[in-house]
Amino acid sequence: MGEPRPDTPAADPPRPAVSVAGLTPMQQAYSDYASHALGCVSCRDIDAGPCGVAEALWQAYRRESDDAYRRLSSSGQ
Ligand SMILES: [Zn+2]
Repeated sequence: MGEPRPDTPAADPPRPAVSVAGLTPMQQAYSDYASHALGCVSCRDIDAGPCGVAEALWQAYRRESDDAYRRLSSSGQ
């Protein structure tokens, strides 16, 4: 039968990289979100939850992410 399939990690561990050149738009969007979340009092308060800025940054990340995957899956066709 087949060969064992190694588990592939779903994603790199989040890294609050700030101002690193060479990031993709998706990575940059996540970096923006992570940087905000680390420095925002509301976002760090579990009871308060993410603030409006975090929501907007997260939505922006999701858009970039969807975009990137769509580009990947449609490349070469
Ligand atoms: Zn926040």
